[in-house]
Amino acid sequence: MKFQKRAYAYIRVSTEEQVQNYSLDTQERAIRDFCDRLGIELVQMFREEGESAKTANRTALRALREKCRFAQRDGINHVVIFKMDRLARSIQDFLTISEEFASNGVTLLSPYEAFDLSAAGKLNTNMLAVIAQYDNDMRSERTVAGMKEALSRGRWVWQPVLGYRKGENPEDASLIKDEAIAPLILQGFKKVAQGESKDTVLKVLNSLGLRTRAGKEVSKQTFNSILKNPLYVGRVVSEKFDIDCVGDFEPIVTQGIFNAVQDRRKKPLSKLGRTFDNPDFPFRRWLQCGTCMNPLTGSYSKGNGGEYGYYHCWNKTCKAVNVRKEVVETLFIEFLQRETVSPEILTLFEAVVRDIWAERGRENVAHIASIDKKIQNLESNLEKLLDLYVGDKGISEKAYRSRSSKMNNEIEALRDLRSRSVSLDIEIEPIINFAKSMLQDLTGCWNRTEAHARPRFLRAMLPNGATFKDGSLRTTQSSWFITSFSSSTTSGDALAVPAGFEPA
Ligand SMILES: [Zn+2]
Repeated sequence: MKFQKRAYAYIRVSTEEQVQNYSLDTQERAIRDFCDRLGIELVQMFREEGESAKTANRTALRALREKCRFAQRDGINHVVIFKMDRLARSIQDFLTISEEFASNGVTLLSPYEAFDLSAAGKLNTNMLAVIAQYDNDMRSERTVAGMKEALSRGRWVWQPVLGYRKGENPEDASLIKDEAIAPLILQGFKKVAQGESKDTVLKVLNSLGLRTRAGKEVSKQTFNSILKNPLYVGRVVSEKFDIDCVGDFEPIVTQGIFNAVQDRRKKPLSKLGRTFDNPDFPFRRWLQCGTCMNPLTGSYSKGNGGEYGYYHCWNKTCKAVNVRKEVVETLFIEFLQRETVSPEILTLFEAVVRDIWAERGRENVAHIASIDKKIQNLESNLEKLLDLYVGDKGISEKAYRSRSSKMNNEIEALRDLRSRSVSLDIEIEPIINFAKSMLQDLTGCWNRTEAHARPRFLRAMLPNGATFKDGSLRTTQSSWFITSFSSSTTSGDALAVPAGFEPA
């Protein structure tokens, strides 16, 4: 039999594993079978027994790494390992070692696991991005839920409008009348209701001392929005959250005056707000012009008796792209349908996430412990200081006050830092489930993603975006979680880097 490839193998066992099914013999047999199947010549077996806890101290591994430096000269293509955890104890070590092998032209193979260095590396960094995104979403969901709840109790949760200030304590009303400004606002409503022109009224109010929080005169635009804001009649209204209820604060204007002002406004109440990030064009900015690499923009234009959405290059000297939005959508869905995520990557994915998570958790615990220690020290110093002062040991009251207040401030700042560190602590299981479900059904996931969240989906999946040229979508990098890990048991070429958007 003619061998196509040559390989070293590395097996490792710790004392407690020896008695389980991880024995060196088991590992060796599996690797030999595997190499036979693939026609790989096994040149040397590196056996690690009674291993040291530290990856760096393992003698057989050191020898293997040394040997691999001359892999090209010796015609070695692969290092075969039983499983990933045989080679390294952490993802970080694994990446370091496999990168080193790769730089010598050696790729890793395993009978049971498929891995590709570049994909694992990408997985690592991109996973953090996805987790961060998810964490963010969860937070904002929690915040949104909290906001809705507060709003429905009549509490104003946003910045107070002109004429009010924030209630200082939780038991206060959420808004408190600003006694300097509120009377001016009321006067404004009254005059406009009586038929005076808005501009004249505004001039008078400004001359009477109506000022924004920044101390500037109030603009026409601001005055206009004041005049239509139901907050001034004591109502909390949020179209977005579908809330319209009586506020927990005192109104500035009566309903009668307010209605009279609305009647005088020529236009009917317009729908509040306008989305600048048009949900009809999720690919905007993410998709780039394949000719000039500028991000594409999206808009509707009229033609053929209808209105059609287009993505186009706005660069005046280029304008190479002008494509119907439906075309882009179809191409993207086709791309998603072509891509599948292998079970191996899901497994590795989970392992990577758990690893990163555990690491972060340890870091966080250490971080909090060091903060606690600092707080303790400060508190004990504060006590000593007090003893000195009370014991009349040469510290003036002034010195005592200034030093103790400084220390108290420091303690306050540390406590604040600590509370923020603890809030990092979110649960890992929902993240893993979320991420796995996302990976397993990309098209479904895309379809379920609400329009406004689609740009985020795109960025999570392909952070560098994609380009459009000659009727097709291309990625500027390969998608990190897509089948880069084809099954290693099928062929020696299993470690090929995946193709991106384009059919190869
Ligand atoms: Zn262009």
